[in-house]
Amino acid sequence: LLNPLLDSVDPSHATFDLFVQAQSCKDVKNHFAALCRQLDIDPRDFRSFYIKLKERLNYWKAKALWTKLDKRASHPDYKQGKASTKNKCLVLGAGPCGLRTAIELSLLGAQVVVLEKRESFSRNNVLHLWPFTIYDLRGLGAKKFYGKFCTGSLDHISIRQLQLVLLKVSLLLGVEVHTGVEFQNLIEPSGENGWTAKLQPGSHPAATFQFDVFISAGGGRFVPDGFKHKELRGKLAIGITTNFINRHTAAEAHVAEISGVARIYNQKFFQELLTETGIDLENIVYYKDDTHYFVMTAKKKSLLKMGVIKRDYSDAEELLAPANVDQEALCRYAHDAATFSTGGKLPDLQFAKNHAGQPDVAMFDFTCMHRAENASLVRERGGKKLLMGLVGDCLVEPFWPLGTGIARGFLASFDTAWMVRSWGMGVPHLKVLAERESIYQVLSQTTPENTCKNYAVYSINPKTRYTRANLSSIHANQVRTAESHPSQP
Ligand code: FAD
Repeated sequence: LLNPLLDSVDPSHATFDLFVQAQSCKDVKNHFAALCRQLDIDPRDFRSFYIKLKERLNYWKAKALWTKLDKRASHPDYKQGKASTKNKCLVLGAGPCGLRTAIELSLLGAQVVVLEKRESFSRNNVLHLWPFTIYDLRGLGAKKFYGKFCTGSLDHISIRQLQLVLLKVSLLLGVEVHTGVEFQNLIEPSGENGWTAKLQPGSHPAATFQFDVFISAGGGRFVPDGFKHKELRGKLAIGITTNFINRHTAAEAHVAEISGVARIYNQKFFQELLTETGIDLENIVYYKDDTHYFVMTAKKKSLLKMGVIKRDYSDAEELLAPANVDQEALCRYAHDAATFSTGGKLPDLQFAKNHAGQPDVAMFDFTCMHRAENASLVRERGGKKLLMGLVGDCLVEPFWPLGTGIARGFLASFDTAWMVRSWGMGVPHLKVLAERESIYQVLSQTTPENTCKNYAVYSINPKTRYTRANLSSIHANQVRTAESHPSQP
C-alpha cells in the first residue's frame, strides 16, 4: 500500500512539496516548471493538464488536495469542464480577483491566460475576510498551501499569501500565468486574426494569444476603453497602513488584535492617544499575520501638526503628494500609533520592508471611491465578438473599513464566470449582458447578513449566493446594440 520511503525517492514528490510550500511568486513558478519537467507534462496542454498531473504524481500527500479540487470541479455548473471549451480568456492582473476568476474559467473548460505586470507578490497588507470567502478558500485547499490560514482570533490573510494560494491552484488547473508583462491595449482583429493584446515587452509570447473573452482585474482605477466610471465622493479620509516584522515570539503571540476601534465606540481610547502622543485617529485596526499589520484613518489636522504633511492644500492629491509628505515623520506617526494601541506590548517594533525595500508605511486618500457604470460589454469587429468584463477593485473600489474588497471581489468573479458560461453555451450576447448587469445591481448592497448563509451551496450561479437577486431586472432590449454597450435603465 502506501510506502512513505518509496515516496521520498521519487524526485517529483519532493518538488511537489516545494511547490506547495513556496513563499514567493518566483519559487512557485520555478518549482511548478520543474514538476512539469519531471512528470513530462506540458503545462500548455491545459485541457488535460490536471488529469495527467493527478495520474503521474502518485503521491499520497497530494491526494487530499485532489479530493478538494475534484469536488469543486464536479459541480454541475461546469458541465464536466465542457461549458466553455470553445472560449479563450485573457485575464489582466494576478491580484486576488484576477486569479480567483481565472480558476473558475478554467473549471468551465476555457483556455485561460493571466497577465501580471509585477514580477513578485510583495503586498504585506492584511485583509479581513467574510465567512463565505474563508469557506471558499478552504475548498480550494488554502490550508494545504498555507497552514496558518485563518487560525488566529480574527479572520484575515495577507494579500501576498492570498495571491500565492490562488496562483498555485491556478497553475494546477492549467491556467497560464505570465508575470513581468504589462497589458497595454486591445488589438482589433484583422484578416484571419482575432482579438489580441498589445503587451510590454511587445515580443512576449502571450502577444500572439487570440481570445474571445477579456477580463480586466487590474485593480484600483484600471479601466479598459469602453467602460465608464462613477465617482463617489465622501469627506476627506486619509488612510495609513504599516507593517512590522513578526518574529512569532510568545510575547508577540499574547498581544490582542484590534478588529476596528471606531471612534464613536471608544472615545476614551482616542482621547488618551491624542493627549499622550498628538496622534488623532478616526479608527485603527491591528491584525497579526505574516506581519503585524495596522491600518488607521488619521485626521488631517494632527498630520499637519506632527509634521507628517508639510503644507495644507484643499486638493487631496496635492496634500498627499510625495513632496508634501515627510516620510520619517510618517514612520514615527505610524510607529507611535501602533505602540500606543497595543499598550506597548509588542517588543522592538521594526518595520517590515515594502516592494522597494523601504519601511512598509503608506499613506493614501480614500475620499473618492470609483465604481464602473457597467460590468460587461461586447465589442465586435470583422465579425469577431469579444466579451469584456470587469472584476475586483476595477469594478467597484471597496471601502476598506468594511472589508468588502475580497468578498465583493470574489462574488463578482463568480458572476463573471457565470456570464462566460452563458457566452460559451451560445446564449445571445444581449441576453448575456442584460443578465450580468442585473446581477451587478445587487453587488453593492451585499453584506455578510443578506447573502446566503449556506456557503456549501455557493456556486457560480448567482441564485445560490444572493438572496434578493433578480437575474432579469434589466432586459435584453435595454442594452444597446451599437458596440453592444449595456446601458442601465
Ligand atoms: P489588485 O489586488 O489591485 O490586483 C491588480 C493586479 O493587476 C496587480 O497585481 C497589478 O500589478 C496588476 N495590473 C494592473 N495593471 C496591469 C497591467 N496593465 N498589466 C498587467 N498587470 C496589471 N479588502 C478586504 O477584503 N478586506 C480588508 O480588510 C481590506 N482592507 C484594505 C485596506 C486598505 C488600506 C486598502 C487600500 C484596501 C483594503 N482592501 C481590503 C481591499 C483589497 O486590497 C482589494 O479589494 C483587493 O486587493 C483587490 O484585488 P484585485 O485583484 O481586484 O486588485
